[in-house]
Amino acid sequence: MAGNITFTMIKPDAVRANNIGPILSMITEAGFRIKAMKFTHLNETTAGGFYAVHKERPFYGELVEFMSSGPIVAAILEKDNAVADFRELIGATNPAEAAEGTIRKKFATSIGENAVHGSDSDENAIIEGDYFFSNLEKF
Ligand code: GDP
Repeated sequence: MAGNITFTMIKPDAVRANNIGPILSMITEAGFRIKAMKFTHLNETTAGGFYAVHKERPFYGELVEFMSSGPIVAAILEKDNAVADFRELIGATNPAEAAEGTIRKKFATSIGENAVHGSDSDENAIIEGDYFFSNLEKF
């Protein structure tokens, strides 16, 4: 059965471009409920830990540098079929391939600086949410 939780970040590029508000609007208009949220700034250690699964990928260094380059918004979102529905809302990793009407089509500028993160499985949604939030911060 599909879970009802996913985890997202509004990445430093979208925060710098002042797009927190429009992106949160798209998320809530698509039916996601905010279960936890914070505005924070990752450093190389905390960004590297979050993306540890990508450690062997050639872009890992660039990814960690980018994700620690400015503040982000982290959030746990709730909705039926959350992981798949959120991946559909954000669109393909590369904005050039993202469908019309998706968040990345609208706000991402490149495959690296692609505005938002979305969990790729129910299991990772839980792990990623727990990386940022304690039980006292989830509502
Ligand atoms: P996602 O699940 O759609 O976010 O994509 P992946 O799990 O494949 O990659 C994680 C993140 O790494 C992406 O969202 C991008 O920010 C970054 N990334 C992926 N591919 C590349 C790449 O070729 N170059 C760079 N610089 N970053 C990349």
